[in-house]
Amino acid sequence: MGPPMTAAIRCEGLTKRFGSVTALGGLTLEVGAGSIVGYLGANGAGKTTTIRLLLGLLRPDAGWAELLGGDPARAESRRRVGYLPGELRLEERCTAAELLHHWGRLRGGVDAAYRDGLVERFQLDPGRRVAQLSAGNRRKVGLVGALMARPRLLVLDEPTNGLDPLVQAEFVALLEEVRRDGATVFLSSHVLAEVQRTADRVAVLREGRLVREGAVDDLRHIARQPFEVHFDGAVPAAALAAVPGLSDLRVEGGRARWVVSGPLQPLLAVLAAHPVRSLSVPEPDLESAVLALYGTQGSP
Ligand code: ATP
Repeated sequence: MGPPMTAAIRCEGLTKRFGSVTALGGLTLEVGAGSIVGYLGANGAGKTTTIRLLLGLLRPDAGWAELLGGDPARAESRRRVGYLPGELRLEERCTAAELLHHWGRLRGGVDAAYRDGLVERFQLDPGRRVAQLSAGNRRKVGLVGALMARPRLLVLDEPTNGLDPLVQAEFVALLEEVRRDGATVFLSSHVLAEVQRTADRVAVLREGRLVREGAVDDLRHIARQPFEVHFDGAVPAAALAAVPGLSDLRVEGGRARWVVSGPLQPLLAVLAAHPVRSLSVPEPDLESAVLALYGTQGSP
């Protein structure tokens, strides 16, 4: 074990242009070791470009990146990184077992029992040729390949794309284990529920620029909080409608529903002044918060 490391990924001013398109316009980001970061953005926001730059697969036009304290392009850094590309190209004639064996050798050997355990958990038939595998099963081969060497940093581009819900659940459980092991996960995803369930932090990219970076819980606070309240008697509709940040008020008999964004104090003052029979506060959705950040351009 070396000295404790505080950042698994660091980059500053990372910029990439393709002709007149700025795919990434000066990204500065630090991912703490041991965290799971969800990297979100609409189609074309620059997520894959970021990942390729971080891994040293693309050269930046400006800025720099560091993985696990070293240069991403160096073999010793790469060996400690597990990478699942968004578009996986596998040799069609090979069996899954042959591919995994080959990748393992490139890494200088892996724990075969751990690898085989992963194959089993993903219910992958290792004897089948890639040409016979469905898109989801190909994805599973890539996931096993990324995970099997117990990397210190996992970089996953849309990992659950095309996986059925059972396999997705297995993947979420695996991420938990990886985190317990102290590894870091950088996960680009469109599946907000998955990010909400697994990530500690999120970074949101929009048109090549970072628009938000923070704890998942903080992002939730900018989401619109739903309320469902059953009053004893008439709903104080006028008082509710006057609460700052309150919208979508619906009244049915003594019941009312609405959403609030921003501070809750003014709402609580109204509720305290009226007889409330029951109150339910459903979990606010990360999706609404992130969609607001994506803005009007595109959708996930
Ligand atoms: P998606 O969610 O659709 O995969 P993304 O966030 O990963 O999108 P990128 O693939 O990084 O987005 O693309 C960012 C921008 O850069 C897009 O406008 C894309 O068209 C452009 N781009 C990416 N790679 C290239 C390339 N090799 N040549 C030209 N333009 C490119």
